[in-house]
Amino acid sequence: SETVERHEFGAEVGRLLDLVVHALYSEREIFLRELVANAADAVDRRRFESLTDAALMLPDDAKVRIVPDKAARTLTISDAGIGMSKAELTQHLGTIARSGTLAFAKSLAEAPAAEKPSLIGQFGVGFYSAFMVAERVEVTSRRAGTEEAWLWASAGSGEYTLAPASRAEAGTDIVLHMKADAEEFLEPLRLQTIIRKWADHITIPITVTKDGVEEAANEGTALWRKSKSEVTAEQTTEFYRHLGNIFDEPWATLHWRAEGALDFTALLFIPGMKPFQAVEGERESRVRLHVRRMFITEEAALLPPWLRFVQGVVDTEDLPLNVSREMLQATPVLARIRRAVTSRVLSELKTKAKDAESFAKFWENFGAILKEGVWEDAEHRKDLAPLIRFRSSAVEGWTSLPDYVSRMKPGQEAIYVLLGDNAEALAKSPQLEGFRAKGVEVLLLTDQIDAFWPERLEKFDDKPIRSITQGSIDLSAVEGTAQQGEAADLSRLLPLLKDALKDDVAEVRATDRLVESAVVLAAGEMGPDLQMQRLMRRAGR
Ligand code: ADP
Repeated sequence: SETVERHEFGAEVGRLLDLVVHALYSEREIFLRELVANAADAVDRRRFESLTDAALMLPDDAKVRIVPDKAARTLTISDAGIGMSKAELTQHLGTIARSGTLAFAKSLAEAPAAEKPSLIGQFGVGFYSAFMVAERVEVTSRRAGTEEAWLWASAGSGEYTLAPASRAEAGTDIVLHMKADAEEFLEPLRLQTIIRKWADHITIPITVTKDGVEEAANEGTALWRKSKSEVTAEQTTEFYRHLGNIFDEPWATLHWRAEGALDFTALLFIPGMKPFQAVEGERESRVRLHVRRMFITEEAALLPPWLRFVQGVVDTEDLPLNVSREMLQATPVLARIRRAVTSRVLSELKTKAKDAESFAKFWENFGAILKEGVWEDAEHRKDLAPLIRFRSSAVEGWTSLPDYVSRMKPGQEAIYVLLGDNAEALAKSPQLEGFRAKGVEVLLLTDQIDAFWPERLEKFDDKPIRSITQGSIDLSAVEGTAQQGEAADLSRLLPLLKDALKDDVAEVRATDRLVESAVVLAAGEMGPDLQMQRLMRRAGR
């Protein structure tokens, strides 16, 4: 008809569809997980928005309905969620907003087979997995709070259409016209099995229609509410994978119940790998807040930004079910839960740090993030300091501040650090010569954040932390075997050098910190350290 609009997919979508359909063929069943997760999210969003806008109120029986129709060879997934406007259909289903196809394709090519299915979730391209099983997809949606509905339709090849439609209530129907080789997904039993496997944690009821009857497909039990002895390790791991779209094992699992002054249950995970959608960018913790099982939001910042790699759920009795965004910002209850949860995670990290090998794995994934806490969190700075791990000029592998201090030379006054971009290059730096000669260890710092936190920590165990490229460092008090050759008379050379270099340097002076090299650059006594100057130049300042 004339009202049907034709649109080309954003250039990247076409290629993406191809990738998703072909690369994940053996894992086709996950299309259902993705569509059901979207539907449940849409219901959650509507419930949350309705707290401040009564017009958006959810119907009492807000379910996700899965309806197979063998005769028509269609599978329909319906929800009474927030719905999508015409603009939202275009934006969410016609373009890839968050991440490019290239990054996705690269990860897909590099990931082991078992991890491939998690990638589509991580890259926010789950909807397109529908084309693994469907030759044509039709989405009818009505945004809650509006009257009009729209029909989005596509065969997954280059273009989609948009046309006015009608829908009695707000929400979304996704109709999949199944491919001939995907008829197995029209069997109610098969669908129920998939839901039990992938979506059992979703607390909104999910039904599969069988012989005209809606049968419950998910148990909907909030796993975290059960006592530890009631849940198996497999169930916990499955939940972790579902939450994080990750397919590995958690590095740490924390499951506890707080009773008394505060009443909440928490099930938290520290991932065993670094998520692909890396930890840069978004800084807020995404730990989910539930009130009496009901999902409220993942934007409650339940943990500080420097613990944002922690995933999981906190479920409390101490807030009303109809807690709104405004209330979340104001309530002191949340602040107290935050403190309790943060200190529990910290003490778990302390315990796990005793196993050096295991902790190294954690450190390589998330150490750079944890160090942000030393920089910005005055309250926890002192607790975090002993957890930091370093490369060093004196030992192989990772070391820590307490270990460094235990190796300090008699007469050594400070903890010395050298900053740069990579530990191997740093280990060869001429800046280290004088320290090596005296047997003084230097910690090698290579994360961007390392240019910032030492200044905030100032001291560890009463020893100041000093960058060896900053100002002059006097090692003469250190007892050592460094050969003090005959000091040359430089009194005529130094002014000549200063003359030649003019304003490029502030000062030219003799140093006892070199053994083999003739000269080395140093930063002024007061100004920023050399690496900091490099970072500032890079940032264009
Ligand atoms: P992701 O869910 O990871 O963001 P998807 O490709 O699965 O990526 O979905 C893209 C977006 O489309 C979602 O973020 C959401 O805004 C919208 N969307 C998808 N399905 C629904 C639905 N059933 N109801 C409302 N919005 C939806």
